[in-house]
Amino acid sequence: MKNKDLISIAKKFGTPTYIYDAEKIKKQYDRLINSFKSVKNLKINYAVKALSNISILKYINKLGAGIDTVSIQEVMIGIKSGIPVDKIIYTPNGVSIEEIQRVAKMGVNINIDNLNILEQFGSSNPEIPVCIRINPHVMAGGNSKISVGHIDSKFGISIHQIPLLLRIVKNTNIKVNGIHMHTGSDILDIEVFIHAAEILFQTASKFKDLEFIDFGSGFKVPYYPGDNETNIEELGDKLSKRFNEFCKSYGRDLILAFEPGKFLVSEAGNFLCSVNSIKQTTSTVFAQVDTGFNHFVRPMMYGSNHHIENISNPSDSERFYSVVGYICETDTFATNKRISKIYEGNILNFKNAGAYCFSMASNYNSRFKPSEILFYNNKAVEIRKRENIDDLLKNQIELEF
Ligand SMILES: *Cc1c(COP(=O)(O)O)cnc(C)c1O
Repeated sequence: MKNKDLISIAKKFGTPTYIYDAEKIKKQYDRLINSFKSVKNLKINYAVKALSNISILKYINKLGAGIDTVSIQEVMIGIKSGIPVDKIIYTPNGVSIEEIQRVAKMGVNINIDNLNILEQFGSSNPEIPVCIRINPHVMAGGNSKISVGHIDSKFGISIHQIPLLLRIVKNTNIKVNGIHMHTGSDILDIEVFIHAAEILFQTASKFKDLEFIDFGSGFKVPYYPGDNETNIEELGDKLSKRFNEFCKSYGRDLILAFEPGKFLVSEAGNFLCSVNSIKQTTSTVFAQVDTGFNHFVRPMMYGSNHHIENISNPSDSERFYSVVGYICETDTFATNKRISKIYEGNILNFKNAGAYCFSMASNYNSRFKPSEILFYNNKAVEIRKRENIDDLLKNQIELEF
C-alpha cells in the first residue's frame, strides 16, 4: 500500500482507523507454506485473537487456513464466518469444563492443557478425541507477558507430569489425536525452537493414535527498520527435516500444524491517526494525536516499538517527537522519535498494527472504537464501522431517580 492510498482512506473514512492490506496477509501465508513445502501434510490455523474481524477470518480461510481459538466466542465468530468446525481448534487456558464441553459438542477439536480438566473431560466424554498441550519448559518470548513456556508458566502440561498424563489417558480411555506446544511470542533463535520441538517429539512417541503435532507459534516479525525477525525459511528447513524423520520412526505421516497470529497479520496493519496539536515544553516536543491506549495499547502494555511515519509530510527534515494520546492518563506511543516534521492536522501511520491492536481496543474515556478497512484488490472497503453514541449506551440501563 502506498502513502497516497492511506491518505485517501483517511480522508474518506476519517481517523483514527485501522487498515489491513490483504495482499500482505497472503504474502506471509505463502511464505510460511513455502518454507514447509517438504512436509506432506501442513496445516495452518490462524490465531483469531490477534485480529478477529469476521471478514479477516473469511479471507484467511479462503487462503486455505483454519483457525485457532481461545474462547467459545471466537469459535462462534469462526463458525459464523463459514469456517467448518473440523478446521477449528480450541486452545483455552483456565476456562470452565462446561465451556470446553460445549465447544466439543460443536464438533471443534479440543486442546487440553490441564490434567484435572483432562480427567473430568475424559471421564464424561471418552469418545471425543483431544489434543494435549505440553509445556516443554523452554524459555522463549520477547517479554514475560508473552513468554508462556517457562517452568512456572500457567500454560500447558509440564513434561515432568507425563507419567501422570499417561495414567489419566489410560484410565479414562480417551483418544489423544494431537500433541501441541506454544512457547510464546518472539522466537529468534531457531535452535531454541528446535530444542523444544525435540521435547515434543519425545512426548509424541508415547501416544499411538496421533493425527497431528502442533508447534504453536511465536514467530517474530520486524517492528521497525532494522528490527529482528524469525527466519521462517531456516526454521522450515530444519523443522521439516526433523518432522519427516519423526514421521518415519512413528510409522505414519502426521500433520504438522502451526497457529500463527502475528506472523500473518501484524505487518499488514496500519493505524492512521491525526495530529490534534503540537505542544512544546522546555524539554520535549509532543505530537498529540486523536487516539490513545484505548485504541492501541501495545506500546504501553508491552513496551512495543511501532514504527511511526508522518504520511502527510514524509520527505521533510526529521525532528524528535514524543507521540502521545488524548487519554487522561499517561499514554505515550513513542518517546523522542525521529519523524519528519509534523504540523497540526497531519496524519501519522503506526505500522505493524494488524496483530493485537484492534482486538485489544476498549472504550476507555468513552471514546468510540475506530473503524477497520480492508485494502483488497486495490480497493478500500470498510469491514467495521466506527462506533457511535448508541453503541456506547447500548447495554446500559438508565435508572430514573
Ligand atoms: C496467541 C496464541 C497464538 C498466536 O501467537 P502469535 O505470537 O500471535 O503468533 C498461537 N497459539 C496459541 C495457543 C496462542 O495462545
